[in-house]
This record gives sequence, C-alpha cells and structure tokens, in this order.
Amino acid sequence: MASVPFAPDVFTWPADEPQLVGGRCGECGSVTFPQPPSCARCGSTAVERHLLPRRGTLWTFTTQEFLPKEPYASGETPETFRPYGVGLVQLGDEVRVEGRLTTADVARLEFGMEMEVVVVPFRIDADGTEVVTYAFAPVDAGVEGADQAGER
Ligand SMILES: [Zn+2]
Repeated sequence: MASVPFAPDVFTWPADEPQLVGGRCGECGSVTFPQPPSCARCGSTAVERHLLPRRGTLWTFTTQEFLPKEPYASGETPETFRPYGVGLVQLGDEVRVEGRLTTADVARLEFGMEMEVVVVPFRIDADGTEVVTYAFAPVDAGVEGADQAGER
C-alpha cells in the first residue's frame, strides 16, 4: 500500500535511500532544515532546495516520555503511547536536525555515534492511508534498525 509523508518535501519519498530536504542560501551559503522561505542568517530569499547527507553524528539526545501535543501527535492515545528517543543529529558540516530516533533505549545511544536517516510509520489515517515520517537510526543497529528501514 502507498504511504505518504506527514508533510510535503521534508524528505525524498518514495526512495530507497531517503534524504532530508533542507535549504541552502544562495547569498551566504547557510544551510537549514526544513527549507525556509528566507535565510535566517542574512534574510535573503534566494534559498534553494538542498538535499542533506543521509548520515551524521548524534549530537545530543533525550527521550519523549509523555504524549506530545499537536501538531506532532501521531494518533496515539495515553494507552497506546510508548516513549521514544529524540535526538539532534549533525548532518555533514552543514546543519543539525532534530528528529525521532528509532530507539528509546538510551543504553544503545552514545554521543557522536553514526546515525542514518530512515523513514518510519507515523500513523494510520481513518481511510487506511499510512503516514510516514523521518527518523534517525543508529547505523550499527543491526536487525532492529534494518527491519525498520525496510518497512514500506
Ligand atoms: Zn543567507
């Protein structure tokens, strides 16, 4: 069944190797995610679509222990909610991106470890459409990470 991104042009999809879509300023070269209408550093509106590296390093992380409010709500209820990891990942030299992690087990996470962009199920809409979002998976996650990356 087809799956749709939670928002347009945040990551390349469908794709075997999805990439986040950022913006690169044509004036000062500043890179941001997601692509902004104008550059936060110099105010230029000459911001071009710029695909970010797929892999980066884990800058910091925490776990989301309670149900987030809209617009991040995924349709979970307090009964179905399970904690998940949230991290800030440095992608290349260019930008740090916040996102869900594929694990909430902090024992498996360490600062500076290599992370990779994956696309994971986010929610199922009332009409049965699967909505997907991006997340970061530890590159050496082994079976669990490979499973999640392969779910389409
Ligand atoms: Zn700029």
